[in-house]
Amino acid sequence: MANNNRRVETTCVQGGYTPGNGEPRQIPIIQSTTFKYATSEDMGKLFDLEASGYFYSRLQNPTCDMVAAKICELEGGSAAMLTSSGQAANFFSIFNIANVGDHIISSTSIYGGTFNLFSVTMKKMGIDFTFIDPDCTEEELRAAFKPNTKAVFGETVANPALTVLDIEKFAKVAHENGVPLIIDNTFATPVNCRPIEWGADIVTHSTTKYMDGHGSSVGGCIVDSGKFNWIKYADKFPGLTTPDASYHGITYAEKFGLEGAFITKATAQLMRDFGCTQSPQSAYYVNLGLESLHVRMERHCLNGLKVAEFLENNDKIAWVNYPDLKGNKYYDLAKKYMPKGTCGVVSFGVKGGRKAAETFMKNLKLIAIETHVADARSCCLHPANATHRQLSEQELIAAGVPSDLIRLSCGIENYEDLISDIRQALESI
Ligand SMILES: *Cc1c(COP(=O)(O)O)cnc(C)c1O
Repeated sequence: MANNNRRVETTCVQGGYTPGNGEPRQIPIIQSTTFKYATSEDMGKLFDLEASGYFYSRLQNPTCDMVAAKICELEGGSAAMLTSSGQAANFFSIFNIANVGDHIISSTSIYGGTFNLFSVTMKKMGIDFTFIDPDCTEEELRAAFKPNTKAVFGETVANPALTVLDIEKFAKVAHENGVPLIIDNTFATPVNCRPIEWGADIVTHSTTKYMDGHGSSVGGCIVDSGKFNWIKYADKFPGLTTPDASYHGITYAEKFGLEGAFITKATAQLMRDFGCTQSPQSAYYVNLGLESLHVRMERHCLNGLKVAEFLENNDKIAWVNYPDLKGNKYYDLAKKYMPKGTCGVVSFGVKGGRKAAETFMKNLKLIAIETHVADARSCCLHPANATHRQLSEQELIAAGVPSDLIRLSCGIENYEDLISDIRQALESI
């Protein structure tokens, strides 16, 4: 599936699809639920996973597969699949290898939706999670393992806390314990970081964010590195290493190899049963976004840094958090894993607390108030008045979201204009 010889920028533009003579230059949108076969035997082979091909778009669709192939190549993986959302991608990435009675270790510093998925919904399904500080020592991480631990999970650059994960440390301890490391690489994107090169085994994305990049479609993706040796730890991963009765007793790790087992199982079982499919039309929009991802990420990061530097030197600002800012707690890790920059999201506090933050936001003209991030248009959110409005001042501090915190997602406009907008809104306080 992957062509690992060309550079990320070229893959953004040309990966995943190579037209033949006289075929469409752009990825075709195959807006069809079903596919025609000459004989029932032909179709039967597909149902038995004896032949590869398309039969029903809930499981696989050619447009979605072309876009998945591009993301697979960008991440340097062996196989990939699109999902209906980032939430579905993270759910599948764990549910594909963990059952009732199993245990997962996750960084505490993750997207709020993922935290809820793990700590409430998947807990109800009988999967237990231990949340661990991403800055923990190797010993602390080792101590979190149990005999039934099946994976370790974290985010490259966490949304919204902007912590940077030491991927090598997490990969080393996960592998010592015979389990894969799953990394949500949504904020960094493969343009800025390729977690598989640092030891991650499975990479997930909310393609809704920078990959789509234009606020047009919700989607997700899972990429498998093909490197984790399921067979070596066969007892831990029976779903991949013992026969699947629903497909006439095939064993995924044997039939599809280490390169194909994880994604084939997730498609054949989880897509079949849950149907969290991305539509071909949405996949097409994601691909348009991917074509300029490398150009946009450079601008998102430039704007993020310029805005963060402006805020740092403004006396109405209490504090600024941006990993590329010298003096930031994660500066060294950010430079190691993301030398080109992290992302365009900056968080900061306005002096005067909640009331000053409200006044500031109300007076912004160019930068819009939205729950979204990672969009071409700059936007911002005051969590204490939106996503976290049920929490008390005390609870907000405990959640790492103080009431003065503003999350600003720098788009790809001219940074002088963003700074002018911020300056005039600060003057209104
Ligand atoms: C937004 C987000 C998700 C969830 O993705 P959806 O596409 O909204 O379902 C997961 N992880 C991270 C890091 C995110 O930013």
